[in-house]
Amino acid sequence: MNAYLDRVLREVHEQNPAEPEFLQAVEEVFASLEPVINKHPEYESLALLERITEPERTIIFRIVWEDDKGITHVNRGYRIQFNSAIGPYKGGLRFDPAVDLSILKCLGFEQTFKNSLTSLPIGGAKGGSDFDPHGKSDHEIMRFCQAYMTELCRHIGPDTDVPAGDIGVGSREIGYLYGQYKRITGGFRNGALTGKGIAYGGSLLRPEASGYGAAYYIREVLKHFGESIRGKTVALSGYGNVTWGTARKITDLGGKVVTISGRDGYVYDPEGISTPEKIAYLLEMRAMPVRGVKLYADRFGAEFHPEERPWQVKADICIPCAVQNEVSLADAMNIVNNGTKYYFEASNMSTEPDAMTYLREHGLIIGPAKAVNAGGVAVSALEMAQNSQRLSWTADEVDDKLKHIMSSIVENSVQAAQKYGLGYNLIDGANIAAFEKVAEAMRAQGLV
Ligand code: GLU
Repeated sequence: MNAYLDRVLREVHEQNPAEPEFLQAVEEVFASLEPVINKHPEYESLALLERITEPERTIIFRIVWEDDKGITHVNRGYRIQFNSAIGPYKGGLRFDPAVDLSILKCLGFEQTFKNSLTSLPIGGAKGGSDFDPHGKSDHEIMRFCQAYMTELCRHIGPDTDVPAGDIGVGSREIGYLYGQYKRITGGFRNGALTGKGIAYGGSLLRPEASGYGAAYYIREVLKHFGESIRGKTVALSGYGNVTWGTARKITDLGGKVVTISGRDGYVYDPEGISTPEKIAYLLEMRAMPVRGVKLYADRFGAEFHPEERPWQVKADICIPCAVQNEVSLADAMNIVNNGTKYYFEASNMSTEPDAMTYLREHGLIIGPAKAVNAGGVAVSALEMAQNSQRLSWTADEVDDKLKHIMSSIVENSVQAAQKYGLGYNLIDGANIAAFEKVAEAMRAQGLV
């Protein structure tokens, strides 16, 4: 490895020893940057890598809220404002008991590069809380969101930092968060959050955008190999927003989605998770008190495999859509043994490093998360644009822009890889294209 990259990687390890996910994300990006750093030795005197791996601001705060029985709870809230070189901080909020500083720094770092790839003017951020929304009443969710926003409101705004949803934060939570933001700050600055309901400034297609974008990205890549989604068998994991949108668009484009998964196991539906009723059921399951996908198997007579992951099922295309590090080396071996040709990460950092190495060594065509799932945040940026204009675009307008953004992400990644003689390499290409834009903006803005 280039000596400068090597030194900064060591320093990042020394400074953040207890943050494995963050270190994994930095290593993954640095592994692609050697040719760029060789070409730009001046980045060392600008401390560019030291700066790009250090969040501009990390906000950690106490959240106090009362449940329906009057019992007081304390959770930890976070917002990592990672990089604002190319636009206001932008990225989702995650409410999940697994949330900690390492996961959010990992996601904030990734978001910086993902947002750069969209070609829209958005910097990188991530936030959330270790609050578990599962099993909470609507009123408890509202009180928690209000308590969270009471602190966060002083750090965000349409031109500074624009949060959105992620795991555990959907349109209901965004509604409560925006209501509290408006109440405290005054004025109707709805560009301060995205993923809003249509009635108060949300964008059409924002809920579908991560999944639709993933399908458009996949369509472009397959086109390069003279193939199409039509007739392909597709394995998905998860059953949340990304899985739902991906299943819908893959089905529209003629593919057959045969698996979904939850914390309880996976469902194999050889008939295809393809009718509007089945796809709508994914949304219904999320609202149920029982967690997991067994409900789907019971309802539609599909196979349920408890405690297992869907990667044992033979599929032409595998698309993890659930959570970071959901694909292990054993899963990667199953995927290779099944003869799968295409692997696209739709969840952020879906793949453990040794699993990724294995998939790459076995010649799969791989699309990395920061490119594949960038459609979600891209439509968030389109929502910001509509809010600034005080106009709403039609679903077709948004969809056309999303298609264009996703194909330009593929094109820019391929061009960046080819510029450095790396061939059709979507992983290194995405990291390089994303890094070059952020690095150039940081260089131009001086030592800040
Ligand atoms: N949470 C989504 C992501 O990981 C969307 C973020 C946003 O729309 O700001 O990209």
